[in-house]
Amino acid sequence: MTLFQAPKGTYDLLPPDSATFLAVREAIAAPVRRAGYGYVETPGFENVELFSRGVGESTDIVTKEMYAFTTRGGDELALRPEGTASVLRAALEANLHKTGNLPVKLWYSGSYYRYERPQAGRYRHFSQVGAEAIGAEDPALDAELIILAADSYRSLGLSGVRLLLNSLGDKECRPVYRAVLQDFLRGLDLDDDTRKRIEINPLRVLDDKRESVQRQLAGAPLISDHLCEACRAYHEQVRELLTEAGVGFEDDPRLVRGLDYYTRSTFEFVHDGLGSQSAVGGGGRYDGLSEMIGGPSLPSVGWALGVDRTVLALRAEGVALPLPPATDVYAVPLGEQARRTLFTAVTALRRAGVAADFAYGGKGVKNAMKSANRSGARFALLAGERDLAEGVVQLKDLQTGEQGPVALDEIVTTVKERLA
Ligand code: ATP
Ligand code: MG
Repeated sequence: MTLFQAPKGTYDLLPPDSATFLAVREAIAAPVRRAGYGYVETPGFENVELFSRGVGESTDIVTKEMYAFTTRGGDELALRPEGTASVLRAALEANLHKTGNLPVKLWYSGSYYRYERPQAGRYRHFSQVGAEAIGAEDPALDAELIILAADSYRSLGLSGVRLLLNSLGDKECRPVYRAVLQDFLRGLDLDDDTRKRIEINPLRVLDDKRESVQRQLAGAPLISDHLCEACRAYHEQVRELLTEAGVGFEDDPRLVRGLDYYTRSTFEFVHDGLGSQSAVGGGGRYDGLSEMIGGPSLPSVGWALGVDRTVLALRAEGVALPLPPATDVYAVPLGEQARRTLFTAVTALRRAGVAADFAYGGKGVKNAMKSANRSGARFALLAGERDLAEGVVQLKDLQTGEQGPVALDEIVTTVKERLA
């Protein structure tokens, strides 16, 4: 075994690609920050019970994908497989819902862990940006979150993201539909595991990815035919608000999140350039989750967008984000005195907000100029003994090759002017 290998199902983010990754995180975060969502950060692990309750005992995440472990002290913990349960736990623990200012709006960004079969777009360590609006039931809030996600994809220049939308009903109509669906499913030819799932969590069966199962589901009853009047009206308002905002969607009556506390709006953003790992993000309303983990009734809605798959979607569409160069000015000294002078100049440039770097390691001019070009810098700052004797350095435009002297005490102002 070589030690120079990241664990299975993981990968390292390295320059220059890592810059795209950061830009995607920022692009997803920007719209929610403008909409009053505050940043929340929770631990990378929680009590395992929070997830088994808060994600659901019958989900793949809990039964197969969780990194659960016992600490030396005997605590049963798990690396977080998703963000919603932790964020809600944190809000409840800090009593944010009691400030009278509902909904509590929070956004987060971080690493998540699932023991999955690794493949393109499916990793054991991946990255999400998420947003949750806790403690309000209002179709405009569902619409707000969906619009914010759509806007972030659009701001990235992605054109191939499709929005799938459904309503899962509420505690009035959902149980009726559940029973009708169970009746239908019990009549199908399914394996034992799936038969068990029919009894615990029948909606999840609709989400089965196997062709043999999907074929049998062709005539399954749909939730859209069983929504109660209140859910129908609520869903209609969400749809109207999206349309007014110019956010296109496709009704998908098969789209489920399958757990009893998921209610009403449910949605997924998919991209067709990603093969079978097509979901770039998803979310929905979870009016029952707070009570499920022992809290008060707090109707809430949220989403999580996958950063890794969003980066893959950009690649699939051939979109290159306009990233600023990491370095604006690269200093190349000739001789010991120039080294000191230019090092001081680089520090001054950085303090003035200019991205500057320096030829370290005492390399020759030729090598140093290569590094300057590779850095993507717009300018090189050169100095030798003769320049210093005249009180100047040479500022070279690396695009045009033009070069001219600049007085030592005017380096910062001149460079800033030229960059502007
Ligand atoms: P999938 O059906 O592809 O397994 P999911 O329903 O499990 O997705 P969510 O729990 O809704 O995914 O997570 C939100 C987003 O996080 C997904 O849309 C996806 O972009 C991303 N994501 C989920 N699991 C992974 C993973 N193992 N690797 C990379 N990204 C992931
Ligand atoms: Mg999954």
